[in-house]
Amino acid sequence: MATIKCIGILTSGGDAPGMNAAIRAVTRRAIYSGYRVKGILRGYKGLVADEIIDLQSDSVSNIIQQGGTMLKTARCEEFMTEQGRRAAYETMKKQGIDALVVIGGDGSLTGASIFAQEFDVPIVGLPGTIDNDLGGTDTTIGYDTALNTIIEAVDKLRDTATSHERLFFVEVMGHTAGYLALNSAIASGAEAAIIPEMHTDVDQLGQLINQGFRKSKNSAIVLVAENPQTGGAMALAERVKQEFPQYEARVTILGHIQRGGSPTAIDRILASRLGAAAIGALLEGQRNVMMGMRNGQIVYVPFSRAINHHEKSIDTGDEDLVRILSI
Ligand code: ATP
Repeated sequence: MATIKCIGILTSGGDAPGMNAAIRAVTRRAIYSGYRVKGILRGYKGLVADEIIDLQSDSVSNIIQQGGTMLKTARCEEFMTEQGRRAAYETMKKQGIDALVVIGGDGSLTGASIFAQEFDVPIVGLPGTIDNDLGGTDTTIGYDTALNTIIEAVDKLRDTATSHERLFFVEVMGHTAGYLALNSAIASGAEAAIIPEMHTDVDQLGQLINQGFRKSKNSAIVLVAENPQTGGAMALAERVKQEFPQYEARVTILGHIQRGGSPTAIDRILASRLGAAAIGALLEGQRNVMMGMRNGQIVYVPFSRAINHHEKSIDTGDEDLVRILSI
């Protein structure tokens, strides 16, 4: 196994608050251990196109509190092809980069896994996505901040919902996972959460109207996970219009506001611990694993497990919890 002298860092896929804290931790922990560090701009795009900067300790000063990513991020079609990945490998050789730390979501780690196998490159991943849709880790970097952003918005919507006696559908991100919708529903005291993991044979909207809204409440907030297959919150509001015209339904799609903002303490600490651990892992000779946090302990998660979030199933008891606590 060749000795590692220089480590490249990139952020890829959707930006997530705490990515900067992770870049800082990786850079400083690597420098502490005597490695050189290079920042790859715009995710895999910068690796393919050779857009690389040197990172010193002071390059990552004053970023721990900032959302987004100082290295920029992007989606990269070329990296999906063998030819594109070969170009990325050529850049690594040219720049003298011996190992990579990839910060991103399931797509980014899927790419990392393929690249590592094809070109025998040591790669360690960090879970950087607001969606929390990675296996082997309790939460991902950015998830806690996004939850806090959502509940702040829902608290404001609640004022209008109660004043006007309306039903509000609030659509949140999550890719194909319902963690953001379900946990922000618990935290904001919403009446229900509608998430992709729920049984499709249950008419969740009908249940909500009949059990809660109709009997005891004249306003309700329902957190809805984005879902291109069902049409998300817009489709639910349309159904209310058709089937329950006595209720006034409104839709708020929170959109990209969920991805920005200064990371919470929880995300900064998670990013700092996992970022430093990524360098420790490379020193130990670990390869092709994602750093995760399980029950307060750092764990190494093989990429194959990390990209399969269905192994970390949503607690269906929490769906009942939302309903029970909002009666
Ligand atoms: P988020 O969860 O925030 O959407 P992500 O990492 O899942 O983040 P994607 O857009 O799915 O975001 O992936 C980011 C990049 O990773 C892609 O643009 C592509 O360059 C690379 N990638 C994704 N899937 C693959 C794949 N199967 N093979 C090679 N590269 C991939």
